[in-house]
Amino acid sequence: MSKILVVDDDEDICENLKIRFQANKFDVIAVNNGKDAVQAVLKEMPDLVLLDIMMPGMDGYETCKQIKKNTASRFLPVIMLTALRRPEEKVKGLKVGADDFISKPFDDKELLARVNAFLRIKSLHDKLDESYQELKKLEALKDNLTELIVHDLRSPVSSIMATLEIFQGKHKDLMNPQVENFIAKIKRNCQVQINLINDILEISRIEEKTLKLEKRDISVNTLIDSCMLQVETSASQKNITIEKKLDDNLPSLCADETYLQRIITNLLNNSLKYTEHGGKMCLSVHHTKEEKSRFVFCIEDTGLGIAKEHLNKIFDRYFQVDRTAGYSRRGVGLGLSFCRMAVEAHGGTIWAESEKRKGSRFYFTIPDVQYNG
Ligand code: ADP
Repeated sequence: MSKILVVDDDEDICENLKIRFQANKFDVIAVNNGKDAVQAVLKEMPDLVLLDIMMPGMDGYETCKQIKKNTASRFLPVIMLTALRRPEEKVKGLKVGADDFISKPFDDKELLARVNAFLRIKSLHDKLDESYQELKKLEALKDNLTELIVHDLRSPVSSIMATLEIFQGKHKDLMNPQVENFIAKIKRNCQVQINLINDILEISRIEEKTLKLEKRDISVNTLIDSCMLQVETSASQKNITIEKKLDDNLPSLCADETYLQRIITNLLNNSLKYTEHGGKMCLSVHHTKEEKSRFVFCIEDTGLGIAKEHLNKIFDRYFQVDRTAGYSRRGVGLGLSFCRMAVEAHGGTIWAESEKRKGSRFYFTIPDVQYNG
């Protein structure tokens, strides 16, 4: 049953409205002044307020302002009852947050119809708010759970890696190409898991704004060489060549080296993942002074490509384009999302150009802070 609060200093009007609404199965509370109305709103949580404007003490405008000021009653519909017909009075009412006006003397049917219309809106709003609160709770729960799982996963996976290293060192006598191959496979998969765990942790740090970039001057050449080294084995296993094209005399780059390495290796690994045996890749860095001075990195491949309709979604968390058989899906769709956040944390932008079956080009920029000042 909907609850209506009637506020009027005229007891007869209050009584009259009470009878009319009770006859239509509403629960009605009536008060005679603004102060009591503000209190009743908080105590009784009505679904709608019918508020007289001209009242001694706190008038309808001030009462409405107080009701709308409170976060708990911000969206409570307030219909002002007025004998005044001048537009400026209505403007004043709208300014303090009134939702509608009904002129005295009221027409029964119109009054009921308007009240019902606002109650419908209020009920939709309440449902929306309930879902939003529920969603917020679930989101918090999911974040806690992710943190817990990620935290608990990191140590066992790192320990598997460490144990394998020790095993390889201590039991050289047991090593043969087949065993080495198995160990390399386990280590590769452990590294995939560790990268994934790091991406999840980093993304939540960036979202919580607790990520701190440790910027320092980096030699672009050295950076690129160390990234290429990290993907060398996987590239040669797929017989993929990676060309390196750097501008001559590139200035040093001021950025967080660890993050930059992770962005580049993430993009290189993706290209390797989505390019067939014998394909080609190219990693280029160009320094430009157009608009603002910046470094433009590009990772290009001759791989599977991405359909136009997916291009702006691939940087979203957990987004993956459906794969046809033959392409392993080792990730979970977090790599590019991490790249975007880390590039943006440096003040840069990231984007992709691609066509299905015609390869992809992933670009990202890092501002040249030394040049730009
Ligand atoms: P994943 O873990 O699935 O690789 P990413 O966030 O790194 O997640 O990438 C999201 C999606 O973008 C991938 O699932 C893939 O469909 C597409 N993608 C990324 N890089 C490439 C690429 N070089 N070639 C083709 N598709 C790519």
